[in-house]
Amino acid sequence: MIHFDNVTKAYPTQNRPALQHVNVAIDKGEFIFLVGPSGSGKSTFLRLILKEERPSQGHVHVAGKDLSRLSNWKVPHLRRRIGCVFQDFRLLPNKNVFENVAFALEVIGKPRRFIGKVVPEVIDLVGLEGKAHRMPDELSGGEQQRVAIARAFVNRPMILLADEPTGNIDPATSIGIMKVLDRINRTGTTVVMATHDAAIVDAFRKRVVELEDGRIIRDQSRGVYGQAY
Ligand code: ADP
Ligand code: ADP
Repeated sequence: MIHFDNVTKAYPTQNRPALQHVNVAIDKGEFIFLVGPSGSGKSTFLRLILKEERPSQGHVHVAGKDLSRLSNWKVPHLRRRIGCVFQDFRLLPNKNVFENVAFALEVIGKPRRFIGKVVPEVIDLVGLEGKAHRMPDELSGGEQQRVAIARAFVNRPMILLADEPTGNIDPATSIGIMKVLDRINRTGTTVVMATHDAAIVDAFRKRVVELEDGRIIRDQSRGVYGQAY
């Protein structure tokens, strides 16, 4: 589903590349924790998958397509098939839960009847049944993140990218958020989650890919956050 083939990314203003000779293959349906200190290249890795950045060397393949050969006019189509969740939720403050999730479908021209059917299903899937009419500022941080996940997933993306999704959420609530991501993963969606949350990584024992100074230094199935070498 995602294949990095000897990818190096050097930003013009930096003397050290953000990613160096990264090789990794992520299969359809996998769940990956991407770990590593701040500045190790995690966000760059996610942005390359979205073609928000281009590799300086090497190739990124998504769903069998080499992104360097994907024409610019097809990039919106690629991004539509990849859901994104962020640390800071990024909800529309003047729309309620239903409208925030529905908006993701309205902008791609889905009919009102379809929206009326699938949005409540996804609101239930993320555990917000009964809260469709709440405004974001009436929700806890964990509930706001559930809305953001519902919005990212309502279009049934092939891939979900999550950048520190539990970074602003207390530990007990984070387990609930992680269960929602796990449930989405079990529908067949490939999930890549960049995280500093050691407790979550250690509790859920997924594949762990660790970056340090832009290089992969560990790729472990059913891994833990910090490895004693
Ligand atoms: P992480 O997400 O692990 O914190 P990043 O991918 O954000 O790592 O950053 C990796 C390195 O690339 C850092 O040295 C960072 O300063 C640099 N970097 C990231 N984005 C840019 C950018 N747009 N322009 C220049 N340098 C960048
Ligand atoms: P669902 O309601 O989606 O079925 P579950 O509570 O059954 O959610 O958990 C989903 C998955 O997450 C299961 O594979 C379970 O093993 C794992 N899981 C649930 N809670 C925890 C936890 N606290 N720590 C680690 N793994 C957990």
